[in-house]
Amino acid sequence: MSHVQVLVVGLGPGGASAARKAAEAGLEVLGIERNRSIGEPVQCAEFVPTPMGAYTRADQVLYQRISGMKSILPSGEAHQSDFPGFMINRARFDQAIAEQAEQAGARLRVQTRIERLDPTARVALLRHADGTESVSYDVLIAADGPHSTVAKLLGLPALATVNTRQYTVPLLTQYADTDIWLSDEYPGGYAWLFPKGNRANLGLGADRRFEDDLKKPLESLHRQLVAAGLVGEEIYYRTGGAIPVGGLRERLVHQRCLFVGDAAGLTHPITGGGISAAVVSGERAGECAGAFVSGADDAFDDYEEDVRDQFEATIERAVARRAYLNRQWRTQAAQSDDTMRKGWIAFSEYFSSVEA
Ligand SMILES: Cc1cc2nc3c(=O)[nH]c(=O)nc-3n(C[C@H](O)[C@H](O)[C@H](O)COP(=O)(O)OP(=O)(O)OC[C@H]3O[C@@H](n4cnc5c(N)ncnc54)[C@H](O)[C@@H]3O)c2cc1C
Repeated sequence: MSHVQVLVVGLGPGGASAARKAAEAGLEVLGIERNRSIGEPVQCAEFVPTPMGAYTRADQVLYQRISGMKSILPSGEAHQSDFPGFMINRARFDQAIAEQAEQAGARLRVQTRIERLDPTARVALLRHADGTESVSYDVLIAADGPHSTVAKLLGLPALATVNTRQYTVPLLTQYADTDIWLSDEYPGGYAWLFPKGNRANLGLGADRRFEDDLKKPLESLHRQLVAAGLVGEEIYYRTGGAIPVGGLRERLVHQRCLFVGDAAGLTHPITGGGISAAVVSGERAGECAGAFVSGADDAFDDYEEDVRDQFEATIERAVARRAYLNRQWRTQAAQSDDTMRKGWIAFSEYFSSVEA
């Protein structure tokens, strides 16, 4: 059996960032990814907010800048707001962080998954093309996304998620806004158009308790936008995936295992944005692993506290807003602009006191 100081499971932005920081702290790091290639297949609308700017400078990551958001209410009224950020090539974004982790000395392996875990002995059973292998670790970082296998192996509850579906289509005009449609046609979610040069990501999310069929509403929106001359008919790429919407896990640390990003429930439950939280929590987890190995007994408590300080209040508001909206979907109230204003971040009503 081999031994590593830090085992990172999942090499999305959270895991790659954790591997990078832990390797930069001088630790022996093994990062594993079940997919054949890091960053692929892309399951993302590819927007990051301005504070992520430094991460968009790597080669071939940046598509274009975004300046605003147009939020379209059920009545058709459109509300314009500032929404500065970047559209990124998400595969390259993840790969660039992973490359930095490798440059810092981390060993990264694709087509390798975690299959069994003994958290008391701190031994993981990994499966790859050549068979299985047991690896012992000092610190485990669970960065394995919304359906975290590590969480399952530790007996922790699954996270509540919404489903999404997205097409990449031709964009027929220059665009620097993200368009958001708030409507009972997308219950438990919303629809979006995110521009990237002469293409756009057109997608939607919905809670399967209210709507199971995402294909029909997405095709209908696509047809409307083709008729309006905004996008072309062709579909270059189809994707989708789950987004955690239930808020943070009760605890982010379990038996020397740190949860980061989507696996921790750090995704914003209203917008679905989670890249930035994955990077920030991943980096913090990598630093915490470094501090722990250097003898800081309180490193895990610091991780729990720091991540909660940074994200909990925002996520709790969003969870409360989801609960409010969940009582309105598929009722007359969900067709009113006033209801949607209370449930979307672009409106001041979203930030007023949350109703019971
Ligand atoms: C359609 C869609 C659009 C989105 N758009 C945006 C957006 O525009 N902006 C934004 O900020 N966020 C967006 N998000 C959310 C964002 O993609 C996630 O929050 C982000 O990817 C979280 O990063 P992560 O590293 O925590 O997890 P992930 O990116 O999910 O990475 C987890 C990795 O773990 C691997 N893995 C899973 N299980 C195992 C296992 N057993 N063994 C080994 N590896 C494993 C997976 O293959 C994956 O590569 C979107 C999500 C979806 C589904």
